[in-house]
Amino acid sequence: MHQLVNPPPFAPDVKFTPYWWDRTPRPALPEGKLPGAVDVLVIGSGYTGLAAALQIARGGRSTLVIDAGDAGFGCSTRNGGQVSTSVKPGFAELARRHGAERAAGIVREGQNSLAWLGEFVAAERIECDFRIAGRFHAAHNPAQYEMLARRIATQPKGLEVAAHVVPRAEQHAELGTDAYYGGVVYERHACVDPGRLHQGMLERVLEAGARVVPHCAATGMRREGASFTVETARGQVAARQIVVATNGYTGALTPWLRRRVIPIGSYMIATEELAPEAMARLMPRRRIVSDTRKVVYYYRPSPDGRRILFGGRVSLSETEPRVSGPRLHADLSQIFPEIASVRISHSWLGFVAYTFDQLMHIGEREGLHYAMGYCGAGVGMASYLGTRLGQQVLGRAEGATALDEVGFQTRPFYRGNPWFLAPSVFYYRWRDRRAGSDR
Ligand SMILES: Cc1cc2nc3c(=O)[nH]c(=O)nc-3n(C[C@H](O)[C@H](O)[C@H](O)COP(=O)(O)OP(=O)(O)OC[C@H]3O[C@@H](n4cnc5c(N)ncnc54)[C@H](O)[C@@H]3O)c2cc1C
Repeated sequence: MHQLVNPPPFAPDVKFTPYWWDRTPRPALPEGKLPGAVDVLVIGSGYTGLAAALQIARGGRSTLVIDAGDAGFGCSTRNGGQVSTSVKPGFAELARRHGAERAAGIVREGQNSLAWLGEFVAAERIECDFRIAGRFHAAHNPAQYEMLARRIATQPKGLEVAAHVVPRAEQHAELGTDAYYGGVVYERHACVDPGRLHQGMLERVLEAGARVVPHCAATGMRREGASFTVETARGQVAARQIVVATNGYTGALTPWLRRRVIPIGSYMIATEELAPEAMARLMPRRRIVSDTRKVVYYYRPSPDGRRILFGGRVSLSETEPRVSGPRLHADLSQIFPEIASVRISHSWLGFVAYTFDQLMHIGEREGLHYAMGYCGAGVGMASYLGTRLGQQVLGRAEGATALDEVGFQTRPFYRGNPWFLAPSVFYYRWRDRRAGSDR
């Protein structure tokens, strides 16, 4: 879609860090000396790692969380804060692969993760602007609108979600644009300030007695009998159990997992503040928004309702926020031409993890407990599966999920460098463009 504008539409004080970090600066945590031994070492301090650590520490085990960067350096403080049911393949596809019973279980896990997050932030009193905003999922051509409407009318029995169609004639009540052909509102989908959510989880984890050490990459690991010795940037630590919570940042430390996740850059911008009348016209219901393009756009108002936060996948090969910002801005301007002159205040990116079967995975292999592969939709799911993972580490029955023992696939010759991605994104972008003009 994007046509580049010149000069780049950056505000003079543009920041190339997430919008969320202004309100929630990166936490200052004591770094100090690592303990020589712990019961459980959690590698990665995003939602997955913290949610697991919360369960484990409350279960009475000594728990150390480490991160290569600041706490929450990865996607968990960089995302759009849209909370959905996360599971991408539909029931029919899942039933074909796994049988009807398992498929229904997996779809329900998606629904559970959405409901669970609302209950969790309320129970833990985490102030993160959680709001059941509803998602407007917009059709980028008439055929997609028909498909969405059909899907809503024929939801599998027992797995129905609250949703209604919005024909193009009524679209302006949802979104001030003519760029779409109507869409569907998923009524229970929600939004949060992801930085606040992460900070709240971090505080609960510290209160539970776990230690969280930033700038402490795990660089090597060996198994000795029933336990592990892990080399880190701050020395060695022995652990009886390990949780790997590295998602799109999974690296050479865990080659088996690295062969199973495909890291993909996801990019966002925040606009400067808009006039209240413009926000009311463009996003009258303050919903979160996504569209039916294969190379999807997702956007929403900021929690204070003054800016638009706009995200998507912009590049065939990975790029950086100075390049991605103007591209996203050009795409946003095609949806809302009236704000083409509004500038970018923040431009940033993070790495999400896709999988070959488009499902997230949780399990244990050779003593390493893991949950990852949220395919770009992990705000609810990473927090939920991280919780289940923590319960599994404690050996508790409530940790069981419908995703357990769903085989975690790789492909021959794939070692963690997604060489096949550039052509496929190129193809999808071309297809989106054709489908968009196929009116
Ligand atoms: C721009 C963007 C927008 C997004 N928008 C949405 C959205 O609107 N809704 C949604 O549901 N999802 C969204 N996502 C995806 C979502 O943010 C992720 O699925 C989720 O945060 C994953 O959490 P995690 O804890 O598993 O991984 P992360 O938060 O990425 O954490 C992994 C951590 O592991 C650490 N690490 C890696 N290797 C090591 C090592 N060897 N030693 C120590 N630490 C290590 C990394 O430093 C990192 O902090 C978005 C992602 C991005 C980037």
